[in-house]
Amino acid sequence: MPVTIGAVREIAPNETRVALVPEVVEKLALAGARVLIEPGAGARAYFPDSLYKKAEWATCAGEVLAAADVLLTVQPLSVDQIQQLKSGAVVIGFMQPHARKAEVKALRDRRITSFSVELIPRISRAQSMDALSSQAAIAGYKAVLIAASHLPKFFPMLTTAAGTIRPSQVLVIGAGVAGLQAIATARRLGAVVEAYDVRGATKEQVKSLGARFVDTGVSAEGAGGYARELTAEEKAKQQEVLDSRIAAADAVVTTASVPGRPAPKIISRSAVQRMRPGSVLVDVAAEQGGNCELTRAGEVVVHNGVNIIGPVNLPAQLAYNASEMYARNLLNFLKPALDKGELKIDWTDEVFVQSCLTHEGVVKHEPTLKALEG
Ligand code: NAD
Repeated sequence: MPVTIGAVREIAPNETRVALVPEVVEKLALAGARVLIEPGAGARAYFPDSLYKKAEWATCAGEVLAAADVLLTVQPLSVDQIQQLKSGAVVIGFMQPHARKAEVKALRDRRITSFSVELIPRISRAQSMDALSSQAAIAGYKAVLIAASHLPKFFPMLTTAAGTIRPSQVLVIGAGVAGLQAIATARRLGAVVEAYDVRGATKEQVKSLGARFVDTGVSAEGAGGYARELTAEEKAKQQEVLDSRIAAADAVVTTASVPGRPAPKIISRSAVQRMRPGSVLVDVAAEQGGNCELTRAGEVVVHNGVNIIGPVNLPAQLAYNASEMYARNLLNFLKPALDKGELKIDWTDEVFVQSCLTHEGVVKHEPTLKALEG
């Protein structure tokens, strides 16, 4: 029997992406799978049903959930959706294991094999599966467009009959995947860009994109290429230099994050007070608590004439490409487990082992297991 791979319309508020796009459905069908989709699943990402030539259509979401051997999702399934899956089914998607305890318990109790794309190891072989990176790049791009559209200034230098317009100064804090894309986008729009990250390794990447690296003299390289948390002394030193660069910027885009922890607070109220009225701060880390003390997720806070924007789910604002990239990530993850249309997971493969959240009634991811027990 060929494996049945399913996707349903996302039910989370403001989620416009879809886990399966037509191009990926065709590739799954070529690999021998049967693909079952809820009508309208791709509509909000501008993939109408008519484009899914190789899909079969269910009458409702419940039918997909009950029939799928493998269910692909963007946002975590709700407990109610998990109850409708067949026991032993496989679910792949953003599982948000830190935040979704009830859902993880339901996956465990229903004996669902779940893979959390956040846990896919960041090894070279898995780059094409790296959904965190594909979606972070979108967030960085979109954050700069939001900054540009709120700023009462041009980004580029203009020489006009009405005189010369000076280019805007953009500061990007956090030069990971989102930050690097933010730098590239701001540069393409003609701004003068500075960037800062606690990881010294980013210095060359920042420079290669045509931006200046802000050197605070503090390095916080941690395990696995990620940042570690800074000491109080290091934070104060970092702050001194950063505050002066924040005050000089027309637009600040912050993307700093430490895996599994609330976003580091880098911009204080007093730093915002030093910014010029009309300047803009876009806090890409808003959903993790924000890099700025004044950020409120999903809101625009105006403080002394400075707009502090806390966007939520930026990738959903670019739903077409975000879905395309995400669906390709899922295909690259799943394809090695498809053998002539049948599902055969290689449990010696570190990609499957490390990204597995629940399997055969057990929570496999240690930190999540500890959080549940704690
Ligand atoms: P992330 O989203 O976890 O963090 C974003 C950035 O914030 C990071 O660059 C981090 O150093 C920075 N940061 C944290 N605390 C900060 C602070 N107090 N002040 C300033 N900046 C701070 O990171 P990410 O974008 O997911 O990527 C993290 C690393 O993983 C990068 O080195 C990236 O190149 C690497 N990576 C590797 C692969 C791969 O090899 N397959 C894929 C993607 C990313």
